[in-house]
Amino acid sequence: MPKLIPVPDALSKPFWDAVNQRRLVLQHCAACNRLQYPPQQACQVCNSAASLTWKEVEGRGHIAASIVIEDGRLNRRMPDQPYNLAMVTLDADQRVNFYSNLPGTPPYKVPVGAAVEVMFEEVAPGQLIHEWRVVA
Ligand SMILES: [Zn+2]
Repeated sequence: MPKLIPVPDALSKPFWDAVNQRRLVLQHCAACNRLQYPPQQACQVCNSAASLTWKEVEGRGHIAASIVIEDGRLNRRMPDQPYNLAMVTLDADQRVNFYSNLPGTPPYKVPVGAAVEVMFEEVAPGQLIHEWRVVA
């Protein structure tokens, strides 16, 4: 399934470098003790930039919601339709959401509420992306 290839910038580079090492590393605000994704210049709660550090987290979550894309507008993805688009909440901080196509789970068969774990897919030579799959 062709997917969008990430283009890391200065802000997101630590995240993508970790993904390429099959690790999930998110911003953590020491002042609020919360995780943040996607990367931002400052904490979305207290607006502190100095309190943000990078922290490796366990790639475990749950499916909060799911839809099926039947008529999307991304040209690269049209041949794949219909496909899943699920919202995953991270167990380590349920305010952190990820979107996933849930590889291995057929469209219309997403078990909302089920546990998922992070996985990594190569979308270009040397470039991985994070995805999520249902825990068997
Ligand atoms: Zn904060």
